[in-house]
Amino acid sequence: MNHRHLLPNEIDLLVDGEAGFGVASLRAHILECRDCETRLCDARVVVDALEGLPHLAPDSRLADRVMAQVPVFVPAHVAARDTVTRWMPRSAAARVAAIVAGTSAAASLTLAMLWLAMRGDAVVFMGGIVSDRLSAGFASGVREVTLALLGPSALAAIDATGALGASLLVFGFALTAVGTVLGLRRLTLAGRRA
Ligand SMILES: [Zn+2]
Repeated sequence: MNHRHLLPNEIDLLVDGEAGFGVASLRAHILECRDCETRLCDARVVVDALEGLPHLAPDSRLADRVMAQVPVFVPAHVAARDTVTRWMPRSAAARVAAIVAGTSAAASLTLAMLWLAMRGDAVVFMGGIVSDRLSAGFASGVREVTLALLGPSALAAIDATGALGASLLVFGFALTAVGTVLGLRRLTLAGRRA
């Protein structure tokens, strides 16, 4: 007979029918010790009773109710995407209209800011600060691309406004391009669906 009674976790091993290393000596103890045999029987009664209980499924709204009280960190880009999704119209045609309108607004805003930048001394001063931080290589690359895409008049506007004007132009151009691509994609998808 072993020198000690079984521990609760050893009783659990026997209830679960484990057959690992060391279980044989536990079984041998049970055969020789009335106390531990009784505890094992009690544990089996409890486990059988638990297994006989009906399986209850939680309310389907439980997860929503719990998550409503959990502060979830939403990254900025996900929040922005959700906002855009929420404000997007449902129908494909309305979405294209919204994208076109948004793109036009962005382009107009860019032109307005360029005009402001050409006029306001304070803005030109800020442009000087920004231009100090931009590398010369990037600036010359922007000039070449601008000349190729938009012609000498746009280059003259950039010369008048500094790097701020160049940044605004590039930003506006990128925004317009992305808007156009998204709009075309919507049109294609809508056409395929129809
Ligand atoms: Zn014992």
